[in-house]
Amino acid sequence: MNNQQTLRYASRTALVCIGLFTMQPSSGADSPVIKINEATAKAEVKSDKLRGNLTMLSGSGGNIIVYNSPAGKFVVDSGISVSKDKILSALSAIGPEPLKYLVNTHYHWDHSDGNVWMHEAGATIVGAPQTAHHLGEQTRVEDWNYTFKPLPAAGRPTVLVKGSKTIKFGGETFHMQNFGNGHTDGDLWVYAQKADVLILGDTYWHPYYPFIDNKHGGSINNAIKWADKAIEASTDKTIIVPGHGVASNKTDLKQWRAMLADIRDKVAAMKKQGKSLEEIQATKPTSAYDAKYGGFVIDGNFFTKLVFDGL
Ligand SMILES: [Zn+2]
Repeated sequence: MNNQQTLRYASRTALVCIGLFTMQPSSGADSPVIKINEATAKAEVKSDKLRGNLTMLSGSGGNIIVYNSPAGKFVVDSGISVSKDKILSALSAIGPEPLKYLVNTHYHWDHSDGNVWMHEAGATIVGAPQTAHHLGEQTRVEDWNYTFKPLPAAGRPTVLVKGSKTIKFGGETFHMQNFGNGHTDGDLWVYAQKADVLILGDTYWHPYYPFIDNKHGGSINNAIKWADKAIEASTDKTIIVPGHGVASNKTDLKQWRAMLADIRDKVAAMKKQGKSLEEIQATKPTSAYDAKYGGFVIDGNFFTKLVFDGL
């Protein structure tokens, strides 16, 4: 299986797991987390220039964004630690400057598993207080049939952002912001002002249905609220970077937001009539969008469940 196929397999496994292991406290060997880690260990890390001194690394879970300057590197998200060597090669290909800052967009392992090694390489970790909290405790994600162990103190954010914070570094100005619950209870976006690049973490996936962490503060309505904030904050020139997928623009983001709202409205109306999740899934409320957005980890059926659970 190639990486995409493995991820699709992982998503089907997740559906099975929801039914079979809902009350299991341990991590099943068939958890999508284990499958994704295995696929990631074999995957290449790809490097794409965004604009100015910003580069996007993909292939290690969530996208990693690197800003390079003579003062050092400012990085957003740390990927999965099985790719450490490949990420190190990609970082040195960008330049020899050391890591100085790492911002976590949220606590999920595919964005934070590399925190410890990046901190040991010199990065001060920035995150929302909720991210620091979740990374310091054992966390159960039922939809993935997986229990995450706490990260050692070296891997947890020490600069905590409540609401907003601005860091001027190496000629760029980075604005970090939280708008309350979104994809989780502790999301941050990062806006690189000079380059006009808006990094949204998992509050945006392009072109895919998103995962929503309903158990830890996420919901479809919160996801739509964050999309509205991002649309408001961007212009037609802004490069908009998702947590998963490829860099995009305001037009793409608006279409994605309209898709979220349309599916939300359909599922909410049926749920209000008393229909069960299975009955709603049988009507295929995502069918108009599956070809465009269903090609990754979250397929139409699973997305319907995520929307339903959050309403
Ligand atoms: Zn996430």
